[in-house]
Amino acid sequence: MIDLRSDTVTKPTQEMREASFHAEVGDDVYGEDPTVQLLEEKAAKMLEKEAALFVTSGVQGNQIAVLTHTNPGNEVILEEESHLFYYEGAAISAFAGVQPRTVKGNRGAMHPADVEAAIRPEDVHLPETGLVVLENTHNRAGGAVIPLETMRATYDVANRHGIPVHLDGARLFNAVAATGISAKEYAQCTDTVQICLSKGLGAPVGSIIAGSQEFINHARKWRKRLGGGLRQVGVVAAPAMIALTDMSKRLHEDHELAKEIEEGIKEAGFELAYPVETNIVIMDVAKTDMNAEQMVEKLEEAGIKAVPFGPTLVRFVTHFDITKQDIKILKKVFKSMKNAL
Ligand SMILES: *Cc1c(COP(=O)(O)O)cnc(C)c1O
Repeated sequence: MIDLRSDTVTKPTQEMREASFHAEVGDDVYGEDPTVQLLEEKAAKMLEKEAALFVTSGVQGNQIAVLTHTNPGNEVILEEESHLFYYEGAAISAFAGVQPRTVKGNRGAMHPADVEAAIRPEDVHLPETGLVVLENTHNRAGGAVIPLETMRATYDVANRHGIPVHLDGARLFNAVAATGISAKEYAQCTDTVQICLSKGLGAPVGSIIAGSQEFINHARKWRKRLGGGLRQVGVVAAPAMIALTDMSKRLHEDHELAKEIEEGIKEAGFELAYPVETNIVIMDVAKTDMNAEQMVEKLEEAGIKAVPFGPTLVRFVTHFDITKQDIKILKKVFKSMKNAL
């Protein structure tokens, strides 16, 4: 099976498994795991933030950020199809007691003027805007890169109103690989940032959140409240360190393969929902006699795994365990499917 469902399906490399085996560990709840400390220091440095915290998942990192930044009864501004709004089980409402206020973006990028218009004025009737959330790269917009200038302009708007900004950078390093703009530069346009080490970067487990020392002190407490305080977690932080430092440098390979998929879709006469920018490809089957579910089934019969991403959309994600040969096979599958239609 060629598994293109997500970049989360990668298996840890030999080097990661060995790093885990040899990791020096301690009880991280007592602040005594040296491997976790190294990882947190390295991540903070790469993102040019005062401090960082290793958390179990991207969702946990995002939720800790919302809990730390906001108060119950606040409103949070999010892009209409952002992961935090779309895919996190309404956790911001269930846990933080905040209300989402969605703004429609252009390929995932909210216009700074629309963000400003969504910020609540002081009025006894209204909730207070507690946070603005950005997502880069944007998953449901097909791995789109949010331009740095848009992020900066949004940050300026939020600063003017005294509202913090959180970046869901689950795939921030894909934006870095696509543009050559550093993670630091992106992180300068936001107060806090979450990055997933277990997506394209290939770690078995873990995310990082980074921000000011004060933010991280509070976040650490929220992590504990949520049951995310772990003990000898250096066994997981050691492979995560390899993900952060080495695997971040190879993401352009995934982007090249995604471009190949894009080419294969076009050559076979199928259509794309969006042009490919990073490692996510979204095919639109609206003009065929199949819906997304049927397309995914057909692909599965041919040995390809993908996911339905809407009634007529199918998502493919490239990652470390996908080879050029796999994509050649996929291209042939597209052609034979088109011929059979
Ligand atoms: C995957 C993802 C997350 C959540 O990460 P998990 O590790 O699956 O909890 C958050 N935001 C975006 C944009 C993602 O793609």
